[in-house]
Amino acid sequence: MAEWSPSSWTQKPIKQDVIYEDLQGLKDSLQKLQKLPPLVTTREINNLKSSLRNVALGNAFVLQGGDCAELFDYCNQDMIEAKVKLLLQMSLVLIWGANKPVIRIARIAGQFAKPRSSPTEVINGVEMPSFRGDNINGFAADPTTRQPDPTRLVSAYFHSAATLNYLRASLSSGLADLHSPLDWGLGHVITPSIKEQYSKTVSAVKDALRFMRTVGIDKDRGVETADIFTSHEGLSLEYEQSLTRQLRHPSTAETGYYATSGHFLWIGDRTRQLDGAHVEFFRGIANPVGIKIGPSMAPDELVRLLDVVNPDREVGKVTLISRYGAGKIADFLPGHIAAVQASGHIPVWQCDPMHGNTQSTPSGVKTRHFTDILSELKQALEIHRAAGSFLGGMHLELTGEAVTECVGGAAGLTEDGLGERYTTFCDPRLNEKQALELAFLVAGFYRE
Ligand code: PEP
Ligand code: MN
Repeated sequence: MAEWSPSSWTQKPIKQDVIYEDLQGLKDSLQKLQKLPPLVTTREINNLKSSLRNVALGNAFVLQGGDCAELFDYCNQDMIEAKVKLLLQMSLVLIWGANKPVIRIARIAGQFAKPRSSPTEVINGVEMPSFRGDNINGFAADPTTRQPDPTRLVSAYFHSAATLNYLRASLSSGLADLHSPLDWGLGHVITPSIKEQYSKTVSAVKDALRFMRTVGIDKDRGVETADIFTSHEGLSLEYEQSLTRQLRHPSTAETGYYATSGHFLWIGDRTRQLDGAHVEFFRGIANPVGIKIGPSMAPDELVRLLDVVNPDREVGKVTLISRYGAGKIADFLPGHIAAVQASGHIPVWQCDPMHGNTQSTPSGVKTRHFTDILSELKQALEIHRAAGSFLGGMHLELTGEAVTECVGGAAGLTEDGLGERYTTFCDPRLNEKQALELAFLVAGFYRE
């Protein structure tokens, strides 16, 4: 295979490319990014990699979640805390259910760039470029704001840095202390059944901790804090290249190219062409990486993709994020599992029950039904079990805010209620209640 470098992707055909008019501005922004320090370290990246190895072998579960499109505006204390607390609560429930360690990866601190089905859209009779994410252009419906602005790439770095800084500071200051999970609050969770179930789980955890303290084994066992890793779609390759550094592995003498914009990057369903720029970039980085796969992926193509992205066949290096839709998963997942098993690759299998289940209401509002999301997850678990494989995790679009974007769940949100707090700038997310309820139901599948 041809030589790889952080810029070799520029020699390949690219999908979802951004055309900058201000070429000098782009050059200046990328030069600035190249000088800035890594956002994450090789030790953290390799810790995640070994955790994901465990997931691939069936010994741990991965919970990945966050906004579809993160905005610079979401970089504030309340929204970061709400999201982190929700992921912590969900992971506690999943640990209790699956009886396995849970690795938490947030779609945060960099999940800005969005692939779009059309490069332009018409708003109030005016055609303008589509919103591509806060790191590319502005959302406001104005053709000038919608022009790609290269200074946004630098802004993306600083918003990621500020988000990550607060995330790290909160965790090291006890936000995730298992001794006080009730302090994580249940904010908007008003459904009595969820509150009661969660309180029961918390009591069970508290009992276990009390016992550990009594017999003196709670020291240095990591009950005071938790790891939360960061992730985003590696869509803007100019940005990723600028933050990719040749660095030494923390414990071996080997050097590798690390994408230091986040711990975990994934390739979206629209940019995973075998001969394309994104696959070229991803095949050279040392991070654990994700690949979205859906109904349009042929089983033999999937295996070739794994051969390209992970030629050394590192266990758990690649996470296959499947997103078929509740009505299609049974047609496609078994074939994908069989092909991968026959190839000898051992990836993490993660189910994204969101992206294959998007639909529009009769009045044109994009939504997802809780029952479809749950059904795709349940089928994924059963199909993997039947094939002698493991469902290693789930990938969700969620928010700690009390939004009304997905239909269903115990609180009974209907299509008529979607208008109340529909605030996403891209795909519909589960709100806090729906996300926690989903965690309980998935935990229940493991306890069946
Ligand atoms: C996403 O995760 O927001 C996304 C765009 O997903 P996919 O690439 O699977 O469509
Ligand atoms: Mn999305």
